[in-house]
Amino acid sequence: MQDLDKLINRAAELLRQADSAVALTGAGHSTPSGIPDFRSPESGLWTQVDPLAVASLFAFRLRPQGFYDWIRPLARVMLEAQPNPGHHALAQLEKAGLLRSVITQNIDGLHQRAGSLRVHEVHGHMREATCIHCYRVVPAESLIEEFLAEGQVPRCTCGGVMKPNVILFGEQLPLNILTAARQDTMACDLMLVIGSSLTVEPVSDLPLMALGHGAKLIIVNYQPTHLDERADVLIHADLADVVPRIADAAINS
Ligand code: ZN
Repeated sequence: MQDLDKLINRAAELLRQADSAVALTGAGHSTPSGIPDFRSPESGLWTQVDPLAVASLFAFRLRPQGFYDWIRPLARVMLEAQPNPGHHALAQLEKAGLLRSVITQNIDGLHQRAGSLRVHEVHGHMREATCIHCYRVVPAESLIEEFLAEGQVPRCTCGGVMKPNVILFGEQLPLNILTAARQDTMACDLMLVIGSSLTVEPVSDLPLMALGHGAKLIIVNYQPTHLDERADVLIHADLADVVPRIADAAINS
């Protein structure tokens, strides 16, 4: 336990010393909020269907009902999920001027709901949906609620299918957001990787980019990552417990 305290204090010290710190968060950051990692085979969302067969852009265009049936349990959980103490801690760090931005692979919007202002959602989000026919963009919440109640594929007034603004398999990541994430990475002198096993490209390359120009690295994740050996501080523990303690120590000492 004393070792964990030491690691937390060291992480807080690095945050205080940094001129520009950036957090990179993955699915593990939202699992304490009850949201399963839908890319992980353990989530249960893989057991009945192969996500590549329903959650790819090709499959969506071919058979949107298959995608919507698959995402239905996840959408319900996401609508009801609340930010966890890790989300709140990152928002507090930003407010205190100790964190420049959050780069996230998550599509649940929980960082913003916790109060984070500068968030790069490289895999998109569920707040809006776009018509795949006329490209009209609309707020998604009422569409999703209606879909959850009735199970019908949401449609635009033009008759086209509405697609949530999440990035599907086989779809390009949004270039402007990825560019902003890379710029913050290039400008940072400290990166905190939280709740990501760094297996999904191209986001998994960002910590290497940061290390490449001399930034320090903090990793908080249950599972090992391929960069564990290069981390200045490595914590394999519950992020909802550890990240608030790091933030508290960084802000209040
Ligand atoms: Zn339309």
